[in-house]
Amino acid sequence: MTRRNFLTLTGSVITLALRGQAGSTAAAGEVPDAVSPPRVDLHVHLDNSTIEQVAALGVERGVKLGVVEHAGTKENQYPVVLSNDAELLAFITKLEGKGVYKGIQAEWIDWAGCFSKETLKQLDYVLSDAMTMPGPNGKRMKLWDPAATIGPAEEFMEKYVAWHVQCMAQQPLDIFGNTTWLPDALMPQYDILWTEARMQQLIEAAVKHNVALEISSWLQLPKLPFLRLAKEAGAKFSFGSNGRYPKMGLIDYCLESAAALQLTPADIYLPSPLGPKAARA
Ligand SMILES: [Zn+2]
Repeated sequence: MTRRNFLTLTGSVITLALRGQAGSTAAAGEVPDAVSPPRVDLHVHLDNSTIEQVAALGVERGVKLGVVEHAGTKENQYPVVLSNDAELLAFITKLEGKGVYKGIQAEWIDWAGCFSKETLKQLDYVLSDAMTMPGPNGKRMKLWDPAATIGPAEEFMEKYVAWHVQCMAQQPLDIFGNTTWLPDALMPQYDILWTEARMQQLIEAAVKHNVALEISSWLQLPKLPFLRLAKEAGAKFSFGSNGRYPKMGLIDYCLESAAALQLTPADIYLPSPLGPKAARA
């Protein structure tokens, strides 16, 4: 974590503490603000903590959390990858009655076949991202791995945008996480590399396939020009931190972006009572 990120997070904690006080007034009987976006964080990982610790933090911060675990074939390398109904059911059972939404962070474009629709139906949503992309040999390449082959920036961007579109077109996703993230080497050129045409390709795919675009409080991305275009196109947004304990529920960037764009609750994705799209497709 950089010093700047640390300071930002510290600021977030203070702001949320202040907002928490205002929120407790509303809880005491005032009519809730009907135009405020919901206080949710749908991208939370349990990694180094228990569900009890995480759930308590959600209550303390006044944010409804959605907990996700990596899911897909065992070709995906993570400490935990849910790969069949039994593994997914054990995860769902662990979250039962804890006051959190239940989700998975699906990997690659072959995850849906790992699970039955009956089991997927017990989830609230499926989130995925484009951070693992086909490498030069066609194999899964984690783009944040220092050993990843990024290559020339312009060529990378063409493949990367096409990969976003493919992920949304080929699998039934509810949320696209870490939207517009770039590998470290390219991040300084973010404003140049994310041309309007590229942003529009990604946004068009999201609208066409009804996938909510995550506003990431961790990355502080996407930036406002992207979010404005997405709003104009009628896209839905999702709030997420990608937080590991105790960094979940810190959604300042999401709320600030929502305020800047004058988003209403209708613009923000919340899980459907019908379950994830994957259970209905
Ligand atoms: Zn994640």
